[in-house]
This record gives sequence, C-alpha cells and structure tokens, in this order.
Amino acid sequence: MITMDFSSVANTFDILESKSGRIEMAERFAELLKKTSLDEIKHLIYISTGILAPPYYSIELGLGEQFGIRAIADAYGYSINVVSKMFDKLGDLGKTAEYFCTNKKQSTLFPSKLTLEHVYDTFVKIAKTSGKGSQDLKIKLLIELLSNAEPNEAKFIIRFVLGELRLGIRESTIIDALSMAKFEDKSYHDILDRAFNITSDLGYVAELFMKDPKSVETLKVEPFKPLMPALAERLPTAEQIMEKMGGICAAESKYDGMRMQIHRKDDRVEIYSRRLEVLTHMFPDVVSAVKRLNANIKEIIFEGESLAYDKEENRFYSFQETMHRRRKHQIGKISKELPMYVFAFDIMFFNGKDLTNRPYKERRKLLESLFPNALSANEKFVIRCSEKHIVKTASQLESVFKNAISRGLEGTMAKDLNAPYTAGKRKFAWIKLKKSYGASMDTIDGVIVGYYLGKGHRTEFGLGGVLLAVYSESTGMLETVAKVGSGFSEEEMKKLKSDLEKLKMDEPDYRLSIKDKKLADVWVRPKIIVEVAFDNITISSMHTCCEKNGKGYALRFPRIVRFRNDKSLDEITTSEEVKEMFERQK
Ligand code: ATP
Repeated sequence: MITMDFSSVANTFDILESKSGRIEMAERFAELLKKTSLDEIKHLIYISTGILAPPYYSIELGLGEQFGIRAIADAYGYSINVVSKMFDKLGDLGKTAEYFCTNKKQSTLFPSKLTLEHVYDTFVKIAKTSGKGSQDLKIKLLIELLSNAEPNEAKFIIRFVLGELRLGIRESTIIDALSMAKFEDKSYHDILDRAFNITSDLGYVAELFMKDPKSVETLKVEPFKPLMPALAERLPTAEQIMEKMGGICAAESKYDGMRMQIHRKDDRVEIYSRRLEVLTHMFPDVVSAVKRLNANIKEIIFEGESLAYDKEENRFYSFQETMHRRRKHQIGKISKELPMYVFAFDIMFFNGKDLTNRPYKERRKLLESLFPNALSANEKFVIRCSEKHIVKTASQLESVFKNAISRGLEGTMAKDLNAPYTAGKRKFAWIKLKKSYGASMDTIDGVIVGYYLGKGHRTEFGLGGVLLAVYSESTGMLETVAKVGSGFSEEEMKKLKSDLEKLKMDEPDYRLSIKDKKLADVWVRPKIIVEVAFDNITISSMHTCCEKNGKGYALRFPRIVRFRNDKSLDEITTSEEVKEMFERQK
C-alpha cells in the first residue's frame, strides 16, 4: 500500500481554509483524492469532515481543551501556564499548537514523517482507550503525534481531536470533488449524493466509487445503515401550502417529540436519532415493542416521532421534558412510569425492498397495514401511525391544523402524496405549518458566539443577552444575525451563563465574521445552539448575515424559544435561508 504523507493532507487543508469558492475547493480536494490510494480514501474523507466514522459507529474524539493544552506543553517543552496564555490570546488551540511547534524548545531524537494512516489509527486508538489510566495513555498518543508533526500538521491534529476541524468544506463539495477526481466533471454528483444520503457514510461511498463508479449507481438502502433524514420546508399559510401541493395532500399531526429511525432485521433492532447516533440502549421499551411486531416483518426501516406519555396527567411530554426525565431517573424505572409512544410517519425499507423511490401514498398504505391508528385506545400499542387526513382545500388544512394545536400538538405536516422519500434533503415533499411564535411563523436555529453583560437587574446574572450567528454556505463563515436578550427564564439564564463561562475566548472565533467587536463583551466558542423566534427580518448595518455594501440581515425582536442540543453546528440555519425568509416576507 502506498501511504500518503499527512503533510499533503495538511497542506490541502491550509488551502481549503483560505478559499471560500465551492468550485475551487472541489478542485483542490479532487487533486488530493487523485493522489490517495484506494485503501486510504475512506479515512481521508472521514478526517476531512472532522469525524473518525459516521455517528452510528459511536467512535468520537471530542477531547477537552485542557487535554490539548497539556499535550502541547509536554510535546514542545513549555509550561501549561504559558500555553494557556497563548491560547487565550489566539482564541484557537490549533493555532496555538502551530505556534509552539514552530518555536519548540525540545525536539524528538528520531522524528518520523507522519502518514495519513498513522494519524488516523492514532486518533482511533485515542478514542477507544478507556478505563483506568486511559487519560495518560491518550495524552501519550497525542504527544507522539505532535512531536513528529510539522507546524500546520499540529494545528489540524489539535483542531481534530477537539472536534473543531471546520475546514468550511461541506459534504456536497466533497461529492463534486469525487466526481471530478474520476471524470474531470460533476457528472456523478446526483448519483453520489443519493448514495451518501441513503447510507450516511461518505467514506464508504467514496471508496466504492473510486474502486468502481458503477457500484454506487445500484446502491440500495439496507438495515443498520441509517438514512439521512428527509427534511421539511416551511410555508407560513395553509393557502400557500395547498397551492404548492397542487390542490391535494396529506396532513399529518406534527408531534413535538424525538425523531427515531428504527431498523430491524430478524432479532436485531437499532434505533437512530435525527443525528444518526445510536439510541437503542436508551429505549428498551421501544426495542421490545419492535421485536414483538408481526412475524411477517423480517426486515424493516421506519421512522417516527416518539413522545413520553403520562397516564396520570393524561398528557404528552415534549422532547425536552422527556429527555430531562429520562436523564434524571433510571431508564428501566422510567419506562414503566413514563411509557414512550412512537408515531410512525414513514417507511423506507421492508422485507428486502428499498421503498425510498415509491410515492408517499404507497409507503403510507403499507405503514397503515402494519401499525394501528394514532388514536387507538389500546395502550399496548407502543407504535402507532401518525394521525393523517387527506385535505383538498386550504380551509380543510387550516381546520386540521387548528384542531392539532388545540390538542397541544406542534402543528401539521403537509405531505405530497406522490413524492418519494427525499433522504437528506429539505424539499417541498413535506411542508410544515407550525404554531406561530408571534408575528412571524418562522424560527431560526443559530449558534451563540458571544454575550454581553447587560444593565439593571440583568447584571446580577452577568448576562444581558447573547450574540447569535448563522452559517454562510457561500463563505463557510459564521455570520452574526441578532443580539438576543429575551426568552430565558431565570433558571435558564443562570445555567446558560455558567455554560458560556466554560467556552470563553479572548478573541472572536476564527470562523466568525463580525462588524464590530463591541457587539459582545465576551466571546465564546460556537457550541451552544438555540432556536430563536422573531417578528421579522430587517436590513441592518450591524450584522454580517449575507452582507452586501456594508448591510446584512438582522432579526427583529428576537427571543429564545428553546435550546437545540439535538442539533450540531452543521445543522444550524444558513445565511442563505435567512435571505429566503426575508424574500418571502416581502
Ligand atoms: P428540521 O428537522 O426540519 O431541521 P427542526 O428540527 O427544527 O427542523 P421542525 O422544523 O419542528 O424541526 O420539524 C421537523 C421535525 O418534525 C422532523 O424532523 C420530525 O422530527 C418532526 N415530526 C413530527 N411529526 C412529524 C410527522 N408527522 N412527519 C414528519 N416529521 C414529523
């Protein structure tokens, strides 16, 4: 096997970081792919996207900053204090590693050039080491990498182990690069994109493709390779939805629970979250319900929204409440007291057949033949079909929606009867109509990048509000869109302050584009994601969201609706989506 030097990878990463154009990034990455041997392709793709494997393999690094600081200090012969100070100054531990590697006080006797495989294998070892003495072993492994690294290699190694690689290259650009590496054009984009969306494993798809491009054309959905979830578009009124749907659609209840993708083959059952993490061990009640399903079901992949139900209070719990209660109590005990119900809303695979290209109405028919109706009074049915009505006019849709709201549900999901299952895509196959949070129906999911101290009674918390950013697909940067000072309860405010304290930095994050450093008193690492409601979107010279001629978009009267711990930084609202919302409101 020809092994690729890690320096070639790090040099390409440096170039990617300095570029913002998608085409240029794809070209550069394609050049690197061409130089990579077939055995290394998979790992190159994983490393470039900041992971060791897809989330359902549960191999994650995400080491803490203190750990990184210790390793840098030890590898380059400085004290922890000196490294910490430099980190505070630079606001990026990767750059800190690069700095100390350039100015190292001690060097290895026999340095050896790092290879991609060695770096990947060491990362996996660090992730898998557990138990007594594991911290020491992990740090030793990291020090060994840093000691043999060139400065830019050290930068990316540290960012990777912290879970903060963020090169600004997205999966769709890597898909372009793959096609270009093999055929010099983007002709395979759609085929690769589908293969990725039905397996959620770009490393696996890339390896298949580079070995034999034809093999990805015939790739099918299979149990225990979760699909990227289909996503819903939003429209503010029932009229607009009916028009888009061409006069007829299904209207399903929209449950505010936790999305579950459930796979079964014979006796094996796995449950995956919206982010494709394995949840199986947390929901033994759901697992046993899936095992008890009809004997004709040999293989199935279906999706539903799960909610806990309190018999005594006769009410459903939202996602946040369910998770809170599950964490607080023992899972076994809580399954009895607070049983879960799964409202199945789609089926993607059944007894050997990939159903993703079949129309919704056909998938739904099969789903209804397998599970009882949502409103079934029989408590033993843990899994039921989501409630569904066929509607033909805006007023029918409106009344289904109002009825859902009056029963404490979140809203309605309109579904195109003829649409396939659009894995990983936000398409008008599903359109959500949600409870309004004031003048606007829309909310955005943004990341907190800083906070300000506030005046009056707020000073006692040391938190007046937060500075929020969204992600720009075109520049790869985080762009500010609002200062949010309301929507928190006192308790949330205290908790948020202490969480933010741990993420403090001297300088704004290196991927943040800001207009004015006075927008925040304290800068924080972009980790905490919140859903924010607002009245409308305005043009402002204060924010950088889609900035043009010194003006960007800003949210008017923003307020926090909830924390989105279930979303990752990759999934926050994009600047381009904010622009679309602005256009729509006109
Ligand atoms: P998104 O998942 O679209 O990024 P989000 O996480 O903010 O957005 P919503 O905008 O509230 O969630 O709506 C989409 C979610 O609604 C789905 O991911 C799913 O978990 C949930 N949901 C509830 N009921 C249904 C249903 N009947 N059909 C499809 N999805 C449903």
